[in-house]
Amino acid sequence: MSEAPEVKRVKLNDDDKPDVREEKKDHDQPRIESILADEYTKPIAMIKVCVGSVVDSRQLSKLVPTLARLLPLTSLQHLKRVHRDGTIILAPVEELNRKLGHGAEGETTVALLEEYLRSAGLLDQSLIDGLCAGMKIVSVPATQPLLRWQYDLVNSVWPCKFHPNRHNEALYTNTLFGKPEADQHRQLMELCLWLGKQEKGRPTGVCVNPRLGSRIAAIGVGRSEEHPVWHCPMVLIDMVAVSQTGGIWNRASPTSTGPLRDDGFDYGGIEPRYERLLREQYGELFSFGAEPIRNGGGTAALEPCESGDPDNLTKYGPYLCTGYDVYLTHEPCIMCAMALTHSRVRRVFYHHLNPQGGALGSLVKLHTIKELNHRFEAFRIL
Ligand SMILES: [Zn+2]
Repeated sequence: MSEAPEVKRVKLNDDDKPDVREEKKDHDQPRIESILADEYTKPIAMIKVCVGSVVDSRQLSKLVPTLARLLPLTSLQHLKRVHRDGTIILAPVEELNRKLGHGAEGETTVALLEEYLRSAGLLDQSLIDGLCAGMKIVSVPATQPLLRWQYDLVNSVWPCKFHPNRHNEALYTNTLFGKPEADQHRQLMELCLWLGKQEKGRPTGVCVNPRLGSRIAAIGVGRSEEHPVWHCPMVLIDMVAVSQTGGIWNRASPTSTGPLRDDGFDYGGIEPRYERLLREQYGELFSFGAEPIRNGGGTAALEPCESGDPDNLTKYGPYLCTGYDVYLTHEPCIMCAMALTHSRVRRVFYHHLNPQGGALGSLVKLHTIKELNHRFEAFRIL
């Protein structure tokens, strides 16, 4: 995709002010925000544990292995057992209550634990005395921090393990995309919004193949007034299927040239009218056509592609939306977000929030549900 500065730009905020053609400064550019799972955006939950104090650090060589036998920290593997200040985690309070029961009325967890440690007979009485003198209940991080900011917050409370992940850090700070790539995403969103305007503001989406310089494989415009499930992403997914010799609702209309053109790409997923409009508006800024399926397609050939393995994509051609990015004017609803999941889409970018029913941030974050067998990354361009 090349730069074409003469092209008239559509402003992403959709207002009616005349276009500003001068080069925008970076901070004026539409922002691209990652829609992350709550576990990345919320502070780490805390859990109550019983701690004791170690008077002499030489006692640790005996104490730590003994405690590992008596009170293993199975659910708190992310924590270092011994704090810098000489306190040591004995066990989570909830676990102790389960293990030791509630005892006589008024008997505290701390008292029950002391009794348990003494009766176990594995530690010297003097060591237990020291341990119990400083015994108290404190809060420690319940899970391992995923991002640096969470680590900085909880590590000051209790030392814990942390494995930095550059990709996730970049998602959190919205710095994943360098300028050229971010500009491509913005341009594709501009295209969606512009085409949506030509279609009386109907939700509009495009599916692109990022491996081929963001070549547009399919275009879908919502027609829910004609059919209750013809939401934009549903139509778009069906248009992708048309480009792979399938499709339920949008079977390719026979054209003189057929969907496969001389350039080797399948244009079945793009209504000729939209291609004409976009070429008139954007010139050569965008390229069109889906990679045709190879080896006859069909289930036998498509099955191995399910993993999205690039080798399989090369061998068999596209499978559903594997490896494809989707740009939508509107945040998809739950049905559509699920359809995008089933389609194995790689990333979804959208502009307008759907506060009542949006499934990628507004109502739920469907793309972050771990139990689903496919997940994609979602971004809002605004
Ligand atoms: Zn929908």
